[in-house]
Amino acid sequence: MPRLLLVSNRLPVTVKAEKDQVSVVRSPGGLATGLSRPHERSSGVWIGWPGDVSRLSAAQRTRVESQLSELRLVPLHLSPSEVSRYYEGYSNRVLWPLFHYLPDRVPRQDRDWEAYAKVNERFADLVARHYQPGDTIWVHDYQLMLVPGLLRQRLPEARIGYFLHIPFPSSELFRSLPHRAELLRGLLGADLVGFHTPSYVHHFSSTLLRLLGLETDIDHVTYEGRSVRLGAFPMGIDTASFESLAHDAGVLEEVRITRERSAGQRLLVGIDRLDYTKGIPRRLLAVQRLLEREPTLRGRLRFIQVAVPSRTAVEDYAAYRDKVDELVGRINGLYGSVHNVPVHYLYRSFNERQLVGLYRAADVMLVTPIRDGMNLVAKEFCAARPDEDGVLILSEFAGAATELREAVIVNPYDVEAMADTIHRALEMPVEERRKRMQALRAQVKSRDVHWWVSHFLDTLQSVPTPTVRSVPGAAEAIARLKESPRRVLLLDYDGTLVGYTARPEQAVPDPELKKLLARLAALPDTSVHIVSGRFREKLEEWLGDLPVGLHAEHGLWSRSGPGAPWRMLEGVSPEWKERARPLLDTFSSHVPGSFVEEKTASLAWHYRQADAGYGSWQARELRLKLCDVLADSPLEVLPGDKVVEVRPRGVQKGRVVAQALEGVAPGTLVAAFGDDRTDEDLFAALPEGSLSVHAGGKTSRATHRVNGSVEVRKVLAALLEA
Ligand code: UDP
Repeated sequence: MPRLLLVSNRLPVTVKAEKDQVSVVRSPGGLATGLSRPHERSSGVWIGWPGDVSRLSAAQRTRVESQLSELRLVPLHLSPSEVSRYYEGYSNRVLWPLFHYLPDRVPRQDRDWEAYAKVNERFADLVARHYQPGDTIWVHDYQLMLVPGLLRQRLPEARIGYFLHIPFPSSELFRSLPHRAELLRGLLGADLVGFHTPSYVHHFSSTLLRLLGLETDIDHVTYEGRSVRLGAFPMGIDTASFESLAHDAGVLEEVRITRERSAGQRLLVGIDRLDYTKGIPRRLLAVQRLLEREPTLRGRLRFIQVAVPSRTAVEDYAAYRDKVDELVGRINGLYGSVHNVPVHYLYRSFNERQLVGLYRAADVMLVTPIRDGMNLVAKEFCAARPDEDGVLILSEFAGAATELREAVIVNPYDVEAMADTIHRALEMPVEERRKRMQALRAQVKSRDVHWWVSHFLDTLQSVPTPTVRSVPGAAEAIARLKESPRRVLLLDYDGTLVGYTARPEQAVPDPELKKLLARLAALPDTSVHIVSGRFREKLEEWLGDLPVGLHAEHGLWSRSGPGAPWRMLEGVSPEWKERARPLLDTFSSHVPGSFVEEKTASLAWHYRQADAGYGSWQARELRLKLCDVLADSPLEVLPGDKVVEVRPRGVQKGRVVAQALEGVAPGTLVAAFGDDRTDEDLFAALPEGSLSVHAGGKTSRATHRVNGSVEVRKVLAALLEA
């Protein structure tokens, strides 16, 4: 197993100081437990914030440092201003509410971004300092979204995984973030980006498409020449530990006492951090509504709600606490008696033993967040019920609902339905309770936190470390071109010599480009060919006066120089078009912004200006339909950059190579430049020892890779310097 560098906002420990004593104790919780195994086995380090140690004396701090170091934990200390701006500010006031679909809670001023970016830099620097070649890095959660990208700049060869522990929202919400592109690019620095559910993966990939124009290919996306794998890895809990606590004699005694004190009452339980995503007010309202509607339940229902103090420095949390306090008071005032109150509200933290005591005592467990990345409480409840009893009511907006299908699923926004559901749960026959709990427990057992950790790390190890990273770039391409005295240059036009424009006719060559091409063609022993998918008329109009070879429609038409006749590739008939045209026309009328372009031997449906998501979805549909319509015809369907093209088989850019090399002296270097899938045919047909240059970030067989048309021009211009 390679060395593992774990990176998270918090270290999995708490520093406890009493008088002059100080100790570092491991935090409870699934993540700390799950990751401690690979951490212990791998001899790597865990990097994160140990919490506030500013009040410790110098001697105490030294002791803390040495205890951390024994555990191979590397502290990154945050200043009070960093805590308030990076952690409470950008992470918890901006990203947290937005990712939980609460944009109204995001402050109007985007003040803390810089602090967020800076602390992310500090994390990346510290990780890079501890990195050794061959290490695997695993970065966690929304506080560190920029870290993978920053690490990629520092460590191009590293294997980097990233996991987001909260939901990834719909692209419509995510796009409201002023720094949306930076955050996405940050995540794309990883080799594997993991989420809890397939729906978060879906939102992420549609965000990549809409905001960065990046298309996901089944489970990966190509970015800056690297393949970034995406996947759903639903996090589990330390099932065995909850299971064993559930059998513990002390815990069972607690359960007995709780039940005895609630004799004659049914027990509802809710356990959450006091967070506005957890849906506590609506849950309380549902209980109130139930008591209102069912007088027979009054005095016979006890709802224990544990609310763990959380993020108390963030204003919204204080306001939320007031709201919960008020609701509890109102319900107890309305439906309490001198003997008991319906809501038993506990504002404090419980340890695992106490939690299991409550899980095991509950008749009905209420897990009704309005949005939750996963929700581990739901899983812990199941693990703590070896008696196969108890009903889990689970919000459809919790990630856990994707897996825990045998729970009673509710919409937490529908208070009436929630009241009904609680009532139904209280009356559920024992057989149904058992059947559901058996299924839930099987699920929670088979996918525990250890499964989650190995599933993620195994996937990360299996992602091929991109060889493209070591593909030479512009400098090497220039050197190759310069060292050869004779050359043939085969240049794609759109995306290679000029950038893409909204409509193809706007990509007119600028005077600098024409000058560059003319000067290249004037170099001794150098011939220049433009190999394009465009019409010959367009190439003639734009570039006809240049002493270069022109090859239109992917090599269907060729012209050797100014004034020379255009010749068509033999054996191609344009009659097939009538079979494909109606389908393309239908798509162009259904997809706003798309249109059909007709060439001599091909038809192309362009969707660059269509809605990105809809366009690419329709492009997939069109390709499937075309393959159907055109099966057993000598035609092929070609996906391009925001275009689907149909053409006779065999008409492809590779056919140009033989023509361009006619009469060329041996020892001539052939250099091809392209950015699109159609250029791959050109690269494939080059003689051995040729130079091929991919302009962009797609997967390519090219020997070299540069950054778009700007760098292509730089490489070509360098030839003129000699
Ligand atoms: N928890 C705890 N003490 C408490 C209440 C909760 O240790 O008093 C733990 C609980 O066992 C669970 C975690 O806190 O492991 C809460 O995780 P969850 O995914 O449900 O919600 P989060 O707080 O991460 O949003």
